[in-house]
Amino acid sequence: MSDHQDYDLIIIGAGSGGVRLARMSAQRGARVAVVESRYLGGTCVNVGCVPKKLFVYGAHVSEDLEDAAGYGWSFPRDQVKFDWPTLVANKNTEIERLNGIYGRMLENAGVTVIQGSATLADANTVVVGDDRYTARHITVATGSWPVIPEVPGKECILTSNEMFYLPQLPREAVVWGGGYIAVEFAGILAGLGVQTTLLYRGDMFLRGFDDDIREFTAQEMRKKGVDLRFGVTIEAVESDGAHYDVILNDGSRLKTGLVMAATGRRALIDGLGLEKLGVQISESGHVVVDEHFQTAVPSITALGDVIGTPQLTPVALAQGMVLSRRLFGDGNGEMDYRCIPTAVFCQPNIGTVGLTEAEARKAGHQVSVYRSEFRPMKHTLSGRDERCLMKLVVDAQSDRVLGAHMVGPDAGEITQGLAVALKAGATKAQFDSTLGIHPTSAEEFVTMREPVA
Ligand code: NDP
Repeated sequence: MSDHQDYDLIIIGAGSGGVRLARMSAQRGARVAVVESRYLGGTCVNVGCVPKKLFVYGAHVSEDLEDAAGYGWSFPRDQVKFDWPTLVANKNTEIERLNGIYGRMLENAGVTVIQGSATLADANTVVVGDDRYTARHITVATGSWPVIPEVPGKECILTSNEMFYLPQLPREAVVWGGGYIAVEFAGILAGLGVQTTLLYRGDMFLRGFDDDIREFTAQEMRKKGVDLRFGVTIEAVESDGAHYDVILNDGSRLKTGLVMAATGRRALIDGLGLEKLGVQISESGHVVVDEHFQTAVPSITALGDVIGTPQLTPVALAQGMVLSRRLFGDGNGEMDYRCIPTAVFCQPNIGTVGLTEAEARKAGHQVSVYRSEFRPMKHTLSGRDERCLMKLVVDAQSDRVLGAHMVGPDAGEITQGLAVALKAGATKAQFDSTLGIHPTSAEEFVTMREPVA
């Protein structure tokens, strides 16, 4: 290997983590290139967070129209029409705008974008088509890809990737899985008028979330007409070209117009040639790194979904900043994976930060639980039977708030502020001494006086 390298850093993957690492590193004076085979912005911008949230907004309009009557608005129901291709086209325009912004951000930072699929020829050389590029550091930031379980008829099953470009909405749909993507798409489809059935293999979906939140979400989703079926899974899918027959493990069959799997995502490392170079891959298929994002090969680092940390955009962004500082800055700073706030944009939304009640008890805390369940003010006039749940998990000895959980409108917006409080180590007494903002749902978080457990 000669001393001269084409770049200081080549990043494979222009998703959230890769782009942040590229920009930060270029701003520190590094010569940076990013190789990308699909679209700038990765999953989040193209087939994840952003288009999903736009679809969630679109789906919620149906409820807003119904709720309007209680506020005195009336319009002929037969004049209310929804056009799916319009929503998809407008979403596509917005995504293209964001792709352009990403491109300009990289260009303005002086980052070279190389279009194509990358393979690692050696620890310092990336091959894209017929071209070879060398770099002192290489970062794998290739993200993740949806997984469909191996069942007969698997080829008939869609994933979130295709759902974002569906030409037509079916009348009925089956969503397979019980995690973030399954509940979010079940809410989108149901909101847009599709008869939606969600199939989950376990007793209660949303494993890992607080048990009260899981049950409450199930109750509210059922009220909105989503057919939630737990303890079942798909054994096979048959198709006559127009409709699908879903064969379940209990022997029953479901006829539907669409089957979508939201059964997890795997690290996307196909064709990179990492193992050949000595980069370790875990049993779950993730790139193994230490706390500094370092693989077993000194010049190769990795970050984002590909390393198996929580598959969340803000996690990848933070990792990009930490790694850039390590490679080209003062080296200070490390990732703190505690208290990662998150929202699930099912309907109603879930917001959560910190420990669940079960996690707190398992960790040995003596726990006090505060709960508030109520009808959001908006629905006193709309008449909608939708309720909101808020819950605080408190360490009874130190009074520290360990977890805050919510199901209800704007849960994500509300939880972001609570995350600051929890990260700062706020106590329940400090929550109590904080004045509410009236009238809001959020004020319930500072007015829960009596523990329920
Ligand atoms: P998740 O890991 O969240 O959920 C996967 C679901 O599929 C689980 O319910 C799981 O069941 C089930 N499942 C897995 N394998 C099988 C199988 N072989 N047969 C039947 N069911 C199966 O994955 P998602 O695909 O929903 O999302 C991936 C990640 O993307 C999330 O974990 C999250 O980090 C991120 N994301 C974040 C969002 C946000 O921030 N709002 C939105 C969307 C995604 P079980 O619980 O029994 O294992």
